[in-house]
Amino acid sequence: MNLPRNPTRPVRIGSITIGAGHPIAVQSMCATHTTDVDATVAQINDLHEAGADVVRIAVDSKRDAEALVEIRARTQANLVIDLQENYRMSELVAPHVNKLRYNPGHLYHHEREKPWKDKVKYLAEIASRHDLALRVGVNCGSVDPAQAEKFAPEDSLAPMLESAWEHCSLLDSLGFTRYCVSLKDSDPDKVIEVNKRFAAQRPDVPLHLGVTEAGLPPEGIIKTRIAFEQLISQGLGDTIRVSLTVPNSRKREEIEAGRQILADIAAGRTRSVVRFNRDSLNIISCPSCSRVENEAFIELAQQVKELTGYARDHAITIAVMGCRVNGPGETDDADLGLWCAPNFVNLKRGPQELGAYPYDEILPRLKAELDSLIASRSCSR
Ligand code: SF4
Repeated sequence: MNLPRNPTRPVRIGSITIGAGHPIAVQSMCATHTTDVDATVAQINDLHEAGADVVRIAVDSKRDAEALVEIRARTQANLVIDLQENYRMSELVAPHVNKLRYNPGHLYHHEREKPWKDKVKYLAEIASRHDLALRVGVNCGSVDPAQAEKFAPEDSLAPMLESAWEHCSLLDSLGFTRYCVSLKDSDPDKVIEVNKRFAAQRPDVPLHLGVTEAGLPPEGIIKTRIAFEQLISQGLGDTIRVSLTVPNSRKREEIEAGRQILADIAAGRTRSVVRFNRDSLNIISCPSCSRVENEAFIELAQQVKELTGYARDHAITIAVMGCRVNGPGETDDADLGLWCAPNFVNLKRGPQELGAYPYDEILPRLKAELDSLIASRSCSR
């Protein structure tokens, strides 16, 4: 089946090009510590062999950046770096990679007195000088605060869209057009809505699609499939990532799931007339990356799923996140949230912090909180 494709412009990322009718590229991200060069190279090459067109790596420190020199020498994969607050890290990593991903919402934390436009200009200059593509990666849990305050708190999509459009306009005005955009949320319906609205105004900009914190398979794959089927079948999406909470040894399942979804859509084997089921328990969990604070996180996500099975008929969202970088913000919208620190797990009820508990005490504490939430809802009926 020939799928319609939006007339996006071409963006080259190392040996591949996305947009302009090129095949939809499939990506994944390393969950190893970037400084553990052997483990990181092994994971990159495993993903590459599984068919990853691009592999992302997190770089948060000078030591991470230094590790890249050897990583680059030991892989043929196209590499993209995930920048967090320290946008200046781009200068160190640029010679060794093919693309940089920055989050507009994170450009405020470092050198606060410097205007964000100057920081984007700097990133575009680095990218031009080193033959790199850029991704403007907008995320529901860390949206640009200046945009967020312009809209009602319940309107989570408008600030994401304004932020993305604003960054596109700036990059265009700088003469830098080798970029794509992602707009990610953990709710597949919102991912569909926000990407459609973005593309209605900017059909020329290639889109990277993903449902963030989709969680454990098979639910994580199902949520992602729902969003991708709706978007890709309408011509939206030039590159994709299926974010799954799986152990490092199974990371290639992200690529396999992505390729399977694309093949099914192309063959007309779509499944999603069904809308996302909001009357049941929804567990979201991050796919983990080098920033994960304790290796016990993956097991914890699995245990949370097993423990909370008895609440499957309640419309409750539980978020399980691997680190302090995105954990605090991205658990705010969940009914109950857990985010991992090295020796304890933080528990939240909505945005309210309930405390930090050792790994071997968190599950009973979560259960008590879940029971109390269910009881309070049945009382208010
Ligand atoms: S929450 Fe932290 S550990 Fe999980 S994917 Fe995001 S940055 Fe990585």
